[in-house]
Amino acid sequence: MNYILIGPPGAGKGTQAKKIVEKFEIIHLSTGDMFREAKKSDKVISRLLASGELVPDVIVVNIVKNCLLKYDVKKGFLLDGFPRTLNQTQELDIMLEKENVKIDGVLFIDLKLEEAIKRISSRRTCSCGASYNVEFFPPKQAGKCDVCNKDLIQRDDDKEEIVKNRLTVYENQTKPLIEYYKNKGLLIEIDGSKSESEVFKQICKSIKK
Ligand SMILES: [Zn+2]
Repeated sequence: MNYILIGPPGAGKGTQAKKIVEKFEIIHLSTGDMFREAKKSDKVISRLLASGELVPDVIVVNIVKNCLLKYDVKKGFLLDGFPRTLNQTQELDIMLEKENVKIDGVLFIDLKLEEAIKRISSRRTCSCGASYNVEFFPPKQAGKCDVCNKDLIQRDDDKEEIVKNRLTVYENQTKPLIEYYKNKGLLIEIDGSKSESEVFKQICKSIKK
């Protein structure tokens, strides 16, 4: 079974991806992990990622291609973080066709933009690694870590203005993929406004079908 996972920032893709690959015992192909790996040996990528700029399609496609070749994708996989643009989608189609691999479905965790903004901008983290959400998972004492009692911080990435930028990029570049996969009959819509476990239940049901 080969699936793609898409959805806006804040939809909980990372958490769901971990659960899916564990339950169905498939390979997790995460561009986040691939980038972290590539960064170690490639100065250009390292510089791009540090600047926060979007990595050009050619580079992304190459990284994914190398990764696909490294694993035995016939075992089944979950693609997470790719494709993000229509151009990447077409490149992926070509890659998979060459390997004679088919996509069984595209899991789209849908979340309203206002909800995504609310979720991300209420995230707080601590230098010890603990994370909180002032709306859904607040610390016992406001602004303090439950584990080590240090002051909680908000990642620059999670500040409202930057979140809005990330969502605009998503709207412009990733939204068109939804139409593309819908037309191919591959789109599986998941209601991302539900709780983590309910979202996972929806996913499992649609994968079993
Ligand atoms: Zn802490």
